Amino acid sequence: MKESYCETCNAMRPTHVDNRAETFTVRNTEIRVETAARICESCGEVVFDRELDDAKLDQAYRQYRAQTGLLQPEEIRAIRETYALSQSAAAKLLGWSPATFTRYETGSLQEAAHDELLRRLRDDRHWAHELFARNGSKLTKLQQRKLRQALESSELVVSRSNTVLVDALNAVYSDLLYVAGEDGNIPCQRALEVVERRAEQAGIVLSHE
Ligand SMILES: [Zn+2]
Repeated sequence: MKESYCETCNAMRPTHVDNRAETFTVRNTEIRVETAARICESCGEVVFDRELDDAKLDQAYRQYRAQTGLLQPEEIRAIRETYALSQSAAAKLLGWSPATFTRYETGSLQEAAHDELLRRLRDDRHWAHELFARNGSKLTKLQQRKLRQALESSELVVSRSNTVLVDALNAVYSDLLYVAGEDGNIPCQRALEVVERRAEQAGIVLSHE
């Protein structure tokens, strides 16, 4: 049994670990989590335990992200890896301070504005190309090569939300092909060209029934 300092008893006390509900305030939002805490055997109050307290905060942040629709650390990491970037290279590409990805991927709560840009990086391949054109020279030659390969690769993961968009785009594409082909409808021909060009820019392979 571990002895810990209890602030309530103002003494070293035997302790045990038990589940306790606790409320955290994360960015003005109350987050209630139930996690393991170290309890004083004498007074039953929670005592300080670095490991357990870190885990609690971690869980509060996870819950906050889930509640507010922010990306979780492993999702941020997955987006970065999709582009074959190291943590520092990804930060350079986005114009962020070098340790930003390291912090986010190890559980720090991300800025809402950063979260939005990460989603855009995930969903908008055209924008990723633009970023590369703008900031690519800040990366090492090796990182530039890896990123270029990832951008060119057809294996770039199409995210779930994007899959829905691709399906919708394909449905529109099929209809346009049908109408444009039937009677040579000029506005449809033009719309078809726009869809084809945009799809190519976004790296989407169109298919029709
Ligand atoms: Zn106590």
